[in-house]
Amino acid sequence: VRDLPLADLRAQFPLLAQSIHGHPLAYLDNAATTQTPLAVQQAMQRFEQHDRANIHRGVHTLSQRATDAFEAARATLKGFIGAGQEHELIFTSGTTEALNLVAQGLWAAGPAKAWLRAGERIIVSGLEHHANLVPWQQAARMSGAELVILRPDAQGRVHVQDLQALLTPATRVLAITAGANATGERPPYEEMLALARAAGALTVLDAAQAVGHDMLPLTALDCDFMAFSGHKMYGPMGTGALVGKREALQLLYPVRLGGDMVDWVSYEAAGYAQLPARLEGGTPNVAGAVGLAAAAQFIAGVGRSAMDQHLHALRAQALAGLSAIGGVTVLAPHATQATLVSFVARDVHPHDIGTLLDERGIAVRTGHHCAQPLLDHLGLGPTTRASFALYNTAEEVDRLIAAVAHAIKVFQ
Ligand code: PMP
Repeated sequence: VRDLPLADLRAQFPLLAQSIHGHPLAYLDNAATTQTPLAVQQAMQRFEQHDRANIHRGVHTLSQRATDAFEAARATLKGFIGAGQEHELIFTSGTTEALNLVAQGLWAAGPAKAWLRAGERIIVSGLEHHANLVPWQQAARMSGAELVILRPDAQGRVHVQDLQALLTPATRVLAITAGANATGERPPYEEMLALARAAGALTVLDAAQAVGHDMLPLTALDCDFMAFSGHKMYGPMGTGALVGKREALQLLYPVRLGGDMVDWVSYEAAGYAQLPARLEGGTPNVAGAVGLAAAAQFIAGVGRSAMDQHLHALRAQALAGLSAIGGVTVLAPHATQATLVSFVARDVHPHDIGTLLDERGIAVRTGHHCAQPLLDHLGLGPTTRASFALYNTAEEVDRLIAAVAHAIKVFQ
């Protein structure tokens, strides 16, 4: 394993070179949002300065250049995630919108035509971010289908045999994350997707925490839909995608209705366009798509497995150091593939820890991490979460551990 050239890499992220409250910034909130390298910023700036125009409907040169840039970004991203001929990529504003397109698309056609109907079953894992739970709650309400949760054990793991017990002939959807943002848990999603698919369900993977890391190519997964966000993979905020099997995407009733997604329109009715346009109504974030493709190229240039080795080492260091502090409990200590640590400290509120860490220039996230049902199920309240990216250093993790120990001494 080669070490990452950290100094060179950090130089590509100008934001990192600043002081917060007199201390060098240690940015450890990467599971929420990573920073963007110069390559991403420059790609977007180039587009804005030379090629910006609306796409797909102009004969003029700029419109064609913008269309070409948008479609080239689509191709780059499909390659990055290992999509095959059978897949199509729909640009969205992020994971949340992508998951909503799926969940709504599966009930919005109404009881006669929709994939989801009364009496059928939707299984959602109990590890999910609200973005992969709340849309399914609504889908169940609107369709009359039953929402069943694959419950985690006391350590926050979900088990294949528990899923097997929930799968019935009436199961129409399994929705699961490739990595739980609140705990770092990595469920055996490959096996679970395969089981659910074999049972006749559509499979939905929330790859928000996984897409920038080593994972199987999409063609090797029994995955009908995969959602991800750009801002968690060194790309722009407000970007992301829904990728799916074409035949699965065809099942979605389009819910972004309007310009660009129609073939013809009369006052009374409209004919919808082919994929991907069918699911991309309205003017997209073209500069964002260009930046997102540049982020994929940046990650590929660094190398996903070299990057992950570095992140796993930082996580192991943080786990060891934090666990050694009296009163601190790290969630999912078994999750060796995690790139974050989420922890609680006896008698000290995460908000107080986070505030003291900020005074030392260390950025972490505190709270429920949009996964309140999971933390409730585990009998925990809010947590403090430090999450790592390729530019983080062992020295920053040492500062984190020392600052947490200090915060606990102050508040306990
Ligand atoms: N799923 C997971 C696992 C996440 O970590 C996040 C972001 N915290 C989301 C979904 C939602 O992503 P976005 O806010 O970019 O739509």
